[in-house]
Amino acid sequence: MHSVSDKRRSANATRPSLNALADSENQFVILGNRLSIDFANTTTASDRLGGNLQTWDDLVDFLFATRLVDRNRSVSLKQLGRDSPGETHELVRVAHQLRDSLRSTFEAMALRARINPSWVHPINQILQLTDGHDELQELIPADRAAGRWALQFVAREQRLEWLLAAIARSAAEIISEGPDAPVRICANPQCGLFFYDTSRTAKRRWCSMAVCGNRHKVAGHARRFAAAADGKRRERPANRRGKT
Ligand SMILES: [Zn+2]
Repeated sequence: MHSVSDKRRSANATRPSLNALADSENQFVILGNRLSIDFANTTTASDRLGGNLQTWDDLVDFLFATRLVDRNRSVSLKQLGRDSPGETHELVRVAHQLRDSLRSTFEAMALRARINPSWVHPINQILQLTDGHDELQELIPADRAAGRWALQFVAREQRLEWLLAAIARSAAEIISEGPDAPVRICANPQCGLFFYDTSRTAKRRWCSMAVCGNRHKVAGHARRFAAAADGKRRERPANRRGKT
């Protein structure tokens, strides 16, 4: 899964800059390192980061942002939303149900708590409805001539549910890793983004060092600075007493 490029990261990045990143990725923050985690991060909760996936067009934009569909397919899918709104609304409902399940599941995994079988049910339902195979596909970023190859799930038949198959499968793979799967929640309590920790030390704390990590560092620096200033204020009366 592609992630936010270093080029776009800024040393003094804060929340607005994450929103800017989100805009550049069709409103979605893609930094979870796993497809299903990026999907779980498309929450509709307004106080959370992670973009917004509410409508059929949003869902198609997410599929395009994560290279699950190419531009032509995303255009035809959006047209399908105009032509068959009943069908596409139903898939959006299924997608939201899947996302709720993924959020509950990943939160439990991050907290090393038990996964409720009812959360896994929507994942299994999509796996049951879908059938296909893995295939190597070249991912070519828009700004580069050569891309990299990735193993992608390809549906045998083009039922709409297959659009969610790769997400459900990604989640199933993570859950199958068991309690040691490095699913984490960003240590910034105002953030709440999930990520899959692929760091060498497996001790990554932040969704993004450039955003939440840096903000924490700045806050820590401000706290230490305030504490040092406070210490000096306390020292001065003592010094004066010492002199008299
Ligand atoms: Zn964060």
